[in-house]
Amino acid sequence: MALPKLSVPQYTVELPSTGAKLNMRPYLVKEEKLLLMALESKDPMQIQSAVQNLVRDCMGLKNIDDITSFDLEYLFLQLRAISVGEHIKVKLNCQKEDCDLYQEDSINVKELKVSGITKDKTIMIDAKKNIGVTMRYPTISKLEKVDLGALDKVENLIDLVTICIDTIFDDENVYKADDTEWEELQEFVTQFSSEQFSLMQNFFSSLPAIEYKKEHTCECGHKSNIELRGLQGFFT
Ligand SMILES: [Zn+2]
Repeated sequence: MALPKLSVPQYTVELPSTGAKLNMRPYLVKEEKLLLMALESKDPMQIQSAVQNLVRDCMGLKNIDDITSFDLEYLFLQLRAISVGEHIKVKLNCQKEDCDLYQEDSINVKELKVSGITKDKTIMIDAKKNIGVTMRYPTISKLEKVDLGALDKVENLIDLVTICIDTIFDDENVYKADDTEWEELQEFVTQFSSEQFSLMQNFFSSLPAIEYKKEHTCECGHKSNIELRGLQGFFT
């Protein structure tokens, strides 16, 4: 005879980038085990993939390809809150050189917000000819195309800029990036001057992220402005 199945509580969570409401259930012991194994490995790729699988399964999504990286981080923290508790312990490291002291702090996940979301993502590239682009926040599947570990290489930076373009416009037309060949988009980007290119770079160097700020006074007397960003900031 089959054993009885337990009921699964459902919660609602809001996607920071769009405000869409999604359902989620807490993660199960077997799922938590996989997550903890990934965290222990300290391998960013393994952690990323464990987090993605967990969010996908607990939100009942087919895939999470179209979710932005900051949405994913936010969803994961909310998921963790309903599964194991709303508080996470973080280390506040003294930022004075030669000081190794730190203090533990407890953060309520419910109080964490995604900061830096902007509605207007228009960048004017050529004011004379009225040519510009509208940008979009990169999704998980788009980010996988870019070697984020080697952004010192210019070809990777070009890839990153290219995946963030939503439309290109001039006086007459709006060209959708999704309807344009990848090579054509890259050609467009590579004709930028370095000044124009840095306008684009500013966009993704200020991508939204989960952020926690606190002023911390160390036992040594040094005052630090602590800023934790993204999942790495909270789980190290
Ligand atoms: Zn100190």
